[in-house]
Amino acid sequence: MTSPAIARTTPNGTEIPRAKRGEGQWLLGYTEPLNKNEQSKKDDNPLNVRARILNIYSKRGFSSIDPADLRGRFRWMGLYTQRAPGLDGGKTAMLEEEELDDEYFMMRVRSDGAILPAATLRALGVVGRDYARDTADVTDRENIQYHWIRIEDVPAIWETLDAAGLDTTEACGDSPRPFLGSPVAGVAADEIIDGTSALEEIKRRYIGDPAFSNLPRKFKTALTGHPSHDVSPETNDVSFVGTVHPEHGPGFDLWVGGGLSTNPMLAQKLGVWIALKDVPDVWAAVASTFRDYGYRRLRSRARLKFLVADWGKEKFREVLEKEYLGRALVDNPSPQAPEAQGDHIGVHEQHDGRFYVGLAPVVGRVSGTILTDLADLVEQVGADGARLTAYQKIVVLGVDADRVEEFCEGAERIGLTARPSNWRRSTMACTGIEFCKLAIVETKDRARRLVDELEQRFPELDVPISVNVNGCPNACARTQVADIGLKGQLVMDDDGHQVEGFQVHLGGALGLHADFGRKLRAHKVTSAGLGDYVSGVVTNYLEHRKDDESFAG
Ligand code: SF4
Repeated sequence: MTSPAIARTTPNGTEIPRAKRGEGQWLLGYTEPLNKNEQSKKDDNPLNVRARILNIYSKRGFSSIDPADLRGRFRWMGLYTQRAPGLDGGKTAMLEEEELDDEYFMMRVRSDGAILPAATLRALGVVGRDYARDTADVTDRENIQYHWIRIEDVPAIWETLDAAGLDTTEACGDSPRPFLGSPVAGVAADEIIDGTSALEEIKRRYIGDPAFSNLPRKFKTALTGHPSHDVSPETNDVSFVGTVHPEHGPGFDLWVGGGLSTNPMLAQKLGVWIALKDVPDVWAAVASTFRDYGYRRLRSRARLKFLVADWGKEKFREVLEKEYLGRALVDNPSPQAPEAQGDHIGVHEQHDGRFYVGLAPVVGRVSGTILTDLADLVEQVGADGARLTAYQKIVVLGVDADRVEEFCEGAERIGLTARPSNWRRSTMACTGIEFCKLAIVETKDRARRLVDELEQRFPELDVPISVNVNGCPNACARTQVADIGLKGQLVMDDDGHQVEGFQVHLGGALGLHADFGRKLRAHKVTSAGLGDYVSGVVTNYLEHRKDDESFAG
């Protein structure tokens, strides 16, 4: 083990004793890189890769890319190599990363909870259509995700996005990933507080700032001032959740250390009150705590949740206040969690008398063409624009009452609907084996067929049931907090062959009854048998539920 350097002092000058065993915490002196990811970040600030993409790689082509950039620093620019076509899920763990690589890239564009006006939607659509074989998925991190991107096209894509006020900086990598913001911030009639300005300010100050470009691992942010907690705040590293203080009025509680994947943990609620204007400083304090004390030795323990679990929320708060903020936070009970989190699907009146309309693509699969069509429609009815949601959906804001019907009909024509079935509304799927190098199974197309099957079998459903389809244990589509969570893995079929399938997690939830679904060993299902399996589970629930018992019980 690398020995720690001499004991350090905290930002406010307190001497820190050496840790007995190094977890790679910088502030305890473990500044020597302890694994190849840490070494790569130390060798060169990952943000520097942008210039090399513009000046070298895009001009000389894929073969000119330094492997350390290709499989490491490119992520800080929102770029990952795609999975080479034709490699089945059994190959994922057997092959080296370079053997899984295709010469095309996936590219993520951040929206960070912002309204995307018609011109911005059109720019996003044009990029998808012209450079990404008409792909453009809406992810549950409120990103637009393209596929089939060529390195030669990246400068032109960035130019188009930049002109539309968009970027891909730190959309991936060990950095402050794209923020989740309430899709109805500033317009909802029942909003507690509009946090838009805080998200804008965090982005302006800290995204692309070298001070936060080398975190131990990814750092996910969510912020909502809506009482339906519409950004899955329990599953983010740092969340600001609208609350009211009896004297100070509306502000935000602070939740830290949420995350799924392996070792899932729900965020700890600190029970504080933070004024809107102070949110960016508190965000920077939490991110700094993670940067300085986060575990860097093992990638599997490098998320903030492990630090919060070891310290407990009391110590976390104490360090935050004493070492980074230099003041105590105001105590305030955490806000009441909603029965279910808001997805904002359908037509809803805004506080200004206009309407917002939540639209459901199927499992987030949109296209460049759909986005340009949506831009035309938004312009046609004079709406303000659209926001993306944490549920792979789209909410269009500012539709006049007398244009709502025209808008909804237009949306249906382009493949989006404001009146989806439960299954279309409540099913999500991650990227899966089509493009993801970590995937074990196919997800998007399987989930789309599952939605079709369930719509046929259960056309009417009087309670929402959510289905989250994931291609591996990484839980990008939040496996553990769905009513029916599906984790991709290889399973045995009836003939004893290894085939694509899922481990099932049942009864997970966010909100008032937030909990992880039960993982029962026997609940494994082949991909081919998924429709029958889910139908059996739903039938069983409908036949045996008591009164208004929810699926999670
Ligand atoms: Fe890829 Fe796994 Fe995430 Fe799905 S859950 S996108 S397969 S890493």
